[in-house]
Amino acid sequence: MPHDLARLLDDLVSAATHDEVPSADRLLAVLGTGDDELLDVVAAAARVRRRRFGRRVKLAYLVNLKSGLCPEDCTYCSQRLGSSAEILRYTWLQAPEALDAARAGIDAGASRVCLVASGRGPTERDVTRVCGVVARITAEHPGVEVCACLGLLSAGQAERLRDAGAHAYNHNLNASEDAYPDICTTHDYADRVATVRRVQDAGLSACSGLIAGAGESPEQVVDVLLALRTLDPDSVPVNFLVPFDGTPLAGRSDLTPQHCLRILAAARFALPRAELRLAAGREIHLRTLQPLALHVASSLFLGDYLTAEGQDAADDLAMIADAGLEVEEVTPPTGARTAHVVPRRRGAGTEVAPNA
Ligand code: SF4
Repeated sequence: MPHDLARLLDDLVSAATHDEVPSADRLLAVLGTGDDELLDVVAAAARVRRRRFGRRVKLAYLVNLKSGLCPEDCTYCSQRLGSSAEILRYTWLQAPEALDAARAGIDAGASRVCLVASGRGPTERDVTRVCGVVARITAEHPGVEVCACLGLLSAGQAERLRDAGAHAYNHNLNASEDAYPDICTTHDYADRVATVRRVQDAGLSACSGLIAGAGESPEQVVDVLLALRTLDPDSVPVNFLVPFDGTPLAGRSDLTPQHCLRILAAARFALPRAELRLAAGREIHLRTLQPLALHVASSLFLGDYLTAEGQDAADDLAMIADAGLEVEEVTPPTGARTAHVVPRRRGAGTEVAPNA
């Protein structure tokens, strides 16, 4: 390994070990490494991952409580205002259907269930509805973490979710502050930061991450990683753009599998304490390098995403085992593709069995 690269990686591993914030220049240097340096970068990030998370992989399972029909205009999102993406569109699932979907993910090995609803933010009635589902999941599955993701929160809503038994709340920053006006005009970056802080103030575990592949520069990737470091969420999903037809970013494909690994490594160095979660788009952009990514990230969403299908849950479990890693289990699992977007047509909101 070239001396400069070895020193860069040693410095980053050392900073992570001592919980120091890495400089923007060093994170930029990681994003600028070449393909012949990739395995050295991954190995260094894997050292950071192993020190805190060992070989465990936490599985999270998404339940889309309300799909599409959002009044917001986030450019990367298939549920946005004006989207003609061929996604499922439905309003709130009834509680039994939401519980069935959650149960399928838990039975397949998920130790976290993420209850998600499209929209700017919940009404008090929406929160009441979600609190009911949270309470039933936690009563039925002690030890399983429930995370809610309902958009921008108003005063008191995080506390209501906490009191119902929610463990966490997800609200992604998604992009750097300077990139934000280009990806959304109906709310702003400060709104997003305020909700993450509201969650933390209520004592909920904060989950906040980013999306890569939406046209951001390397500097903007570093900016959002350091902004997340300042916010200090407990978990950080890393999404890769799912370029749905019918959205402004349709067909966009700026990412290579190698660059996805560099982004994940930079995230690992910037956020050494956080659970780093492989999220939507991993099959499209990481493709056959997903197992390497698991040596950097410590978590993934099992099976399908909110509006796109993922690879089969059984393949996720086999991939984890093949990589020499172990699922963090609350309930032992009952069971053990693609370069194009497949709209979800199974699971929550359909009559078809979920992919779990
Ligand atoms: S990311 Fe959320 S707020 Fe933005 S358009 Fe999609 S569902 Fe709506």
